[in-house]
Amino acid sequence: MGKKNKNLPRVAYFCMEYGLQSDFKIYAGGLGILAGDYLKGAKDHDFPIVGLGIMWKQGYGDQMLDENGQPFDAYRNRKYDFLKDTGVTVDVLIRNVNVKCKVWLVEKFGNAPLYLLDTDLPENADAWISGQLYGWFGEERIAQEIVLGIGGVKALRALGHEVDIYHFNEGHALFAGFELLREQMEGEDGLSFKKALKKVKKQVVFTTHTPIVQGNESHPIDRIEYMGANLCLKRKHLVKLGCLDDENLFNMTVGALRMSKKSNAVAQLHGETANKMWKDVKKRSSITAITNGIHVPTWVDPAILAAAEGKKEQDFDKLWEVHYKNKKALVGFIEKRNGVKLDVNKLIIGFSRRAVAYKRSDLIFRNPKIIEPLLKNQTVQLVFSGKAHPLDDAGKAIIANLVAMSKKYPKSVVFLTDYDMTIGAALTRGADVWLNNPVRPKEASGTSGMKASMNGVLNLSILDGWWPEACEHGVNGWQFGDAKELEDPAAQDLHDMNALYKTLTEEVVPTFYENQPKWRKMMRKSIRSTNYQFSVERMLEEYYDLLYC
Ligand SMILES: *Cc1c(COP(=O)(O)O)cnc(C)c1O
Repeated sequence: MGKKNKNLPRVAYFCMEYGLQSDFKIYAGGLGILAGDYLKGAKDHDFPIVGLGIMWKQGYGDQMLDENGQPFDAYRNRKYDFLKDTGVTVDVLIRNVNVKCKVWLVEKFGNAPLYLLDTDLPENADAWISGQLYGWFGEERIAQEIVLGIGGVKALRALGHEVDIYHFNEGHALFAGFELLREQMEGEDGLSFKKALKKVKKQVVFTTHTPIVQGNESHPIDRIEYMGANLCLKRKHLVKLGCLDDENLFNMTVGALRMSKKSNAVAQLHGETANKMWKDVKKRSSITAITNGIHVPTWVDPAILAAAEGKKEQDFDKLWEVHYKNKKALVGFIEKRNGVKLDVNKLIIGFSRRAVAYKRSDLIFRNPKIIEPLLKNQTVQLVFSGKAHPLDDAGKAIIANLVAMSKKYPKSVVFLTDYDMTIGAALTRGADVWLNNPVRPKEASGTSGMKASMNGVLNLSILDGWWPEACEHGVNGWQFGDAKELEDPAAQDLHDMNALYKTLTEEVVPTFYENQPKWRKMMRKSIRSTNYQFSVERMLEEYYDLLYC
């Protein structure tokens, strides 16, 4: 919106993962989808942004099911013929060993330039650093983050890219800040740590994500020093940057909050949560809230956007016709994958999330007296997808449970394995309803609901993440649970489960089967009330107005 002609700061964006296209497997989930959409938005709207990431040889594992319905992970080497060789390599020191990083360029997906660092070279003993995305913790994770951060800054220098703002998307990228400090401290001016930090801070911004404490990575300081990630920084500097009360534990988020001039949370509610969560961190940047957005051309059917323009009777018919086509495509997709043929004329509810306890994918099954009859006669059909983290056994048990449910109700419950962008797109176009029931306020933002909403797939969601900003209950979707937060987790689950059943049986099901005109009106409202507000275009505008300035 008029930004194109101004002299905008040039931004280098650092992220561990990018979701640009389904079969380009350098992403795991929401963080990567956000980063991919961001780079596509930057390209569409001509913002001076480049991305830095890692060329994962295997990426995030594929997750399949064994014959007992237990998930297992499979990795394979991947090759991509569209990578452009920049001819640049940079060196980083890891455990005192030199590691070469080759720099590839990706521009093929309508994205701003993305530079990917790759350690898979014959001269590296540690070629595996860029092997598996989130495959390891501890030392190996630090090695990967050295490549991303320190290697990333060096790559920018070698490529001759001028940068005004370094944007760390999540704390993974923090070591880029260490390299920026090193440049100041070991450079011509030989600044002190304090002066270098003051200078570097002016150029760094940070986006914080998960509001779950354990989700914010930390490392013993000994480990950071042993790996050589600290560069010229002394222990006391590390303590100043990354420690809270434990002087041996370095938290990457804390470090990034203290190394940035501004930071942001990814939804308005998340802004409140993040400020509470990090209130004891002294000398940190203030956390403003910039709600995530999606790249509309990637996720939304243009035909449904066009159909939502008019409000004559034939326009509503057209809206339903387009949706019905997308729903049929989803039913066909599921039949091909799982051999189950859902009824296209009955309600389909989609749910796909990373399998982790707080997202409560099984909430809807918890009272069989209510849900069983609805599933047995196919009044409600449920389609699930999602992966567990490869090292998360609790998450795998959640998936095994969903698979068991699909066996118990074979005509009306489906689990799609190996959740990826293809499944994400099919579900958020073709379902009737998008269900979301995390324990509030643990969902930072959630972008799948935005995809659904713009496709006329009605959200049925707890008031968490982005949804409190968008929800007009009974008008463009539904909320349940009234944002009530209880101390006792069991009481919380019970409260939310009952609220879900009430909204489902008294509002969603009757509207779908008995009041089609209202349903179509809600679809139109869903699309029109979110189409710009939750687009990556709006998000980028706010990044420039609130973060990069
Ligand atoms: C959109 C998307 C996500 C992010 O969705 P959430 O709402 O944050 O769960 C994750 N993975 C894939 C494959 C997606 O398409």
